[in-house]
Amino acid sequence: MKILVLPDPSFDFFLAKNHQGRPLAYSLARRASAKDIIESLGIPHTEVGGIRFEGRKIDFSFVPAAPGTLQVHAVLAPFSVLSPSMLRPVPLDCIKFVADVNVLKLGRLLILLGFDVACSSSYSDDEIADIAQAQSRIVLTRDTLLLKRKKIVFARRIRSNLPYEQVLEVVEFFGLQHLIVFFSRCTACNRQLVPVNKNNIIHLLEPRTKKYYFDFLQCPQCRNIFWKGSHYGAMKNTFSRLGIFSRKE
Ligand SMILES: [Zn+2]
Repeated sequence: MKILVLPDPSFDFFLAKNHQGRPLAYSLARRASAKDIIESLGIPHTEVGGIRFEGRKIDFSFVPAAPGTLQVHAVLAPFSVLSPSMLRPVPLDCIKFVADVNVLKLGRLLILLGFDVACSSSYSDDEIADIAQAQSRIVLTRDTLLLKRKKIVFARRIRSNLPYEQVLEVVEFFGLQHLIVFFSRCTACNRQLVPVNKNNIIHLLEPRTKKYYFDFLQCPQCRNIFWKGSHYGAMKNTFSRLGIFSRKE
């Protein structure tokens, strides 16, 4: 039985060279779901925003019983992970990420922007999938294969190699600009920072910091102290060059 697959042009990123830019004739030798067919071509289900079989909207579990045309649409930005859709009927209740080891720098930069990102160089693929499922987190990775796992519902296969460009990619793809608050989380622990009275920590500060800075934040977990020093200014400038700004200062 033949299925004609019409992938969105943006899926060329995932397709073999000889499959790019054209309809694909898919021979169905056994019972296969829409998810199986799409992923066998190299497109992870997490990148798919809509599927139609013979013009009718279907979900990933649909099994074609007759020959026909399968249209595969990409997720359109901004991807609203907080709203239910046909392919993802259970939305997330807040935006949280888990970063794979191949995008750890991206994970840390997103924490700097105030996002909740679980990231560790020790996570295995199994752990990433488990964390995504158990903690309702969006997976960020450059590993296409990882995203074919059923446990992973929300994700982005990061395209760029460069960490700052990756941040822009995530901010634009998930429409996060209005949620950004620079310097509100600990980059070591991913915990929300809390204001701390200078008098309570003054004995821990270097003389210069003691003299020039008045507002301090502390991580409730590792007790690290943060203030808006030169590192903060440099980071803010780098982000503003990319068009990324904090919701509040
Ligand atoms: Zn910390």
